[in-house]
Amino acid sequence: MERILVTGGGGFIGSHLAKYLYLQGNFVRVIDTEFNEYIQEKYCSEKLQLDLRIWENCLAATKGVDKIYNLAANMGGIGFINSVGAEVMHDNVLINTHMLEASRQNNVKRFLFSSSACVYPTYRQRNPNVKGLKEEYAYPADPDNFYGWEKLFTEKMCEAYRRDCSMDIRIVRYHNIYGPKGTYEGGREKSPAALCRKVAEALSPETITLWGDGKQTRSYCYIDDAVRGTVMLMGSDHDKPLNIGSDRLVSIDELADIIIKISGKNIAREYDLSAPQGVRGRNADITLARKIIGWEPKVSLEEGLARTYRWIEECVRDKLVAAKGEVKADVVRRK
Ligand code: NAD
Repeated sequence: MERILVTGGGGFIGSHLAKYLYLQGNFVRVIDTEFNEYIQEKYCSEKLQLDLRIWENCLAATKGVDKIYNLAANMGGIGFINSVGAEVMHDNVLINTHMLEASRQNNVKRFLFSSSACVYPTYRQRNPNVKGLKEEYAYPADPDNFYGWEKLFTEKMCEAYRRDCSMDIRIVRYHNIYGPKGTYEGGREKSPAALCRKVAEALSPETITLWGDGKQTRSYCYIDDAVRGTVMLMGSDHDKPLNIGSDRLVSIDELADIIIKISGKNIAREYDLSAPQGVRGRNADITLARKIIGWEPKVSLEEGLARTYRWIEECVRDKLVAAKGEVKADVVRRK
């Protein structure tokens, strides 16, 4: 049994990761400012509500643990990270700076930083038919947004702490992780969840709106695969950044095709060319993950999206039922 801290453990990847580690019999402390309302069952040993931008909280959080998965971040989908720059950089620099230094002071044995595909330079992502991004492509640096710059800065800070303080650090670069029990509404959701929600809310026939012209490309990795890869990386000797993602490139149109087929609905689409769409094409090269930790995704995009769609469809249905109940109660009250 290990003593593990998962920061951001109230969020999407953090809650799935904490649950996986907890079910393996570890002591798992999770810390977040807010907790994912989607997970009802007990999924950790200890749950603390702390703001990790504050130094004293990081010092308390890192006491008495051997390993830290540092996933806390102020983040969201392309609409959010394109529009919010100062807040994202401010919050994430504070969280990561304090978490690293507090981990050093508390002699934490191993620390994992959750970086992102957003660190990769725009000049390698101008074509929808893009080549997979290899880890070494991060330099010369030119990330697409402030969020990516902060991730790259923190990767460098990890490198400095490893060199100067002999800290044992792992860095995972996630590429579009998706699955059930993640944000699917409210403005911070990412493309798979947003599209599942739009289709689930649509009547049949109906038209939904896609951001961009639908030809921009991405690759998507299912949450269970991402959690498994993260734990494998943490257990390995690899102390350089490692991509965890899928190397199956699809366009947003193809993503929508799969989701619409799963729904069984008759849905047409229109395109909002003024909406944010990020880089033109992005794919993960996972050659290194295959070689170093023997990891690759197992869940197909069709299977992962089917699981995600069913969960979001259920959430949308529950909300509709609740809203109808409220209207009924209101009518009764008025009578
Ligand atoms: P998420 O937003 O669901 O989880 C992040 C959690 O951090 C949230 O629950 C949030 O409340 C918490 N947090 C924010 N500010 C905090 C603070 N001041 N103190 C404590 N907690 C705070 O996001 P996620 O998708 O689970 O991402 C987890 C990590 O992986 C993040 O670092 C993110 O940048 C990185 N990442 C995710 C993806 C992806 O596709 N989901 C891709 C690349 C990188």
